[in-house]
Amino acid sequence: MPPTVGVLGLQGGVREHRELLEHLGARVTLVRAPSDLAGPDGLRVDALVLPGGESSTIDKLLRLFDLFEPLRVAIAGGLPTLGTCAGLVLLAREVVDPAPGQRSLQVLDVTVQRNALGPQVDSAETTLATPLGAVRVAFIRAPIVTRLGPGVDVVGTHAGRVVGARAGGVTGLSFHPELTGEPAFHSELISATGIPPRGRRLVPQVRI
Ligand code: GLN
Repeated sequence: MPPTVGVLGLQGGVREHRELLEHLGARVTLVRAPSDLAGPDGLRVDALVLPGGESSTIDKLLRLFDLFEPLRVAIAGGLPTLGTCAGLVLLAREVVDPAPGQRSLQVLDVTVQRNALGPQVDSAETTLATPLGAVRVAFIRAPIVTRLGPGVDVVGTHAGRVVGARAGGVTGLSFHPELTGEPAFHSELISATGIPPRGRRLVPQVRI
């Protein structure tokens, strides 16, 4: 049985994550309601992806669809999770420059500054050195990590800024590996479910 990976499907770059995960052999379910995440028998997904988009909008929709608390509890309870860009903002304990009333799930002990990499690197594609090797990724109005809590590891730096962090099974990235078809982080997420990914590189479907 392939692992089931839930992709939060309320707003943002959902399709690209889905395609990359399916390419790597996972079954993907879109999470849009609490019942997509868990049922009477417990969790319905083996891992989770929080895509990029607009974090303040996703936050509002999470609360509108009663997903905020179930998601927080599931991730805090150990569900392997990968957040990209707005997904990193959602994971963070603290957000600098939030939109009015914006909240975050506070499941990764970092402080992030929204839109820190700003328009000058809008749509920039670059190669980063990471613990998973060199990865080809894209930045789009990306946040940066300005504080790392105890036990949180750096996953990547870009122009001297921290652009990826992880603690336990929770990884937050400022950048988008899914837009360049970079499989390393999604493969790692699938591996965290105990089932190995197929491990082939996806020919990029999307160019920015
Ligand atoms: N700037 C966006 C935010 O704060 C993130 C951008 C992205 O996900 N590409 O949510």
